[in-house]
Amino acid sequence: VQDSSSPSARAPITRKKIHGHVGFSNLPNQIRRKSVKDGFQLTVMVVGESGLGKSTMINTLFDSPIYAPREPLHPAADRPKTIAIESTQAVIEENGVRLRLTVVDTPGFGDFVNNAPSCNPILENIEQRFDAYLSQEHRVRRANLVDTRIHACIYFIQPTGHALKQIDIEFMRHLHHRVNLIPVIAKADTMNDDEIADFKERILSDLEFNGIQIFQAPMYEDDDEESLAEADEIARAIPFAVVGATQRVRTRDGRKVRGRAYPWGVVEVDNPAHCDFGKLRQMLVRTNLEDLREYTNEVLFERWRTEKLLAMGYTQDASVFAEFDPAERLQEDRIVHEAKLAKLEASMKEVFREKVEIQERKLKQSEVELYGRHKEIKDQLNKQWEELVKKKAQLEGAMSSPDASRKKTFRG
Ligand code: GDP
Repeated sequence: VQDSSSPSARAPITRKKIHGHVGFSNLPNQIRRKSVKDGFQLTVMVVGESGLGKSTMINTLFDSPIYAPREPLHPAADRPKTIAIESTQAVIEENGVRLRLTVVDTPGFGDFVNNAPSCNPILENIEQRFDAYLSQEHRVRRANLVDTRIHACIYFIQPTGHALKQIDIEFMRHLHHRVNLIPVIAKADTMNDDEIADFKERILSDLEFNGIQIFQAPMYEDDDEESLAEADEIARAIPFAVVGATQRVRTRDGRKVRGRAYPWGVVEVDNPAHCDFGKLRQMLVRTNLEDLREYTNEVLFERWRTEKLLAMGYTQDASVFAEFDPAERLQEDRIVHEAKLAKLEASMKEVFREKVEIQERKLKQSEVELYGRHKEIKDQLNKQWEELVKKKAQLEGAMSSPDASRKKTFRG
């Protein structure tokens, strides 16, 4: 299967059907009823330097082996020169509800000596997906729109405990107006609670200082108290400090859990006291699945569409773009342009006709003048001819008379 909306259209898409518990089937009833028939659909992009645990996190999130473990890059191996953009699709079924999940991975990000170009292919990929969606919207038959737009981008931050790195800031600054950014602190089991709290504070202030906007879950006033408290708890945990692990390990008290075993104990992936993994999962596939999709469609996509139209030279009030159909507008412009061309052609023909007329008049006039001159010359010549004939006759007459001939001889 080829993902035509992606710049790496040649990248294969693996489809997997898996059965695992994720939590989306617990979505509010109203949303659930609406989506039971068609299933949910979510496209998540994961970005971060190699080895930060992206593949493990995706597998942990969907409790399924979506990603096969990737061989770590040997330090002496040639570094990739480009970022590959790979899509993997999985259909997850839970209590009869289907979630069509697409994970877009960006291996190679951050692996270059100069990381400046890292953002561009990713931004291009996001925008090409917008483009693909836009051209579907322009089709006459709009049924079965395939939404391949990125609904969330999980950005993995290295657990350094210091501050955001330049590449983190560059990437997020480049992409925050095109995608719902969800920053996470990778491998949070390598830091203690105090370090995590400090690091989170530092990251949030770095984000604010650099004007980077991350996904903010909306608060619904009509939500019950419990949901509001839950949403608030999720919001306050951002950037989530996550731990990924698919293996089941036994805790000291004999429970079998997903986690990472250390000599001093087990870090449990699903235990909110140990890490924020549960909150990230809850945000993505339960509490904010629809919000992520809605924000992508109504804000990020619309902003991109408006900017694209403005770049094409449309200077209308941006507020009208929501009901604005660019195809229709192009057609209208084409008609106006053709009318202008026709008018221009008509006026050129008129100028041409006038010029030809003037020229013809001039030619006729010179013809008349020429004819008159010709006639005048001809008349003159005729007159001279007659005079000569007359003279000749006189001379002949004189020559034939002897007197005249003598006189003539004498005079001569
Ligand atoms: P990717 O290159 O970002 O996709 O990283 P992987 O998911 O392939 O993980 C790289 C290595 O980090 C593997 O050995 C994983 O077992 C390990 N790893 C993944 N997640 C975690 C984590 O949360 N904590 C720790 N300590 N190690 C992790």
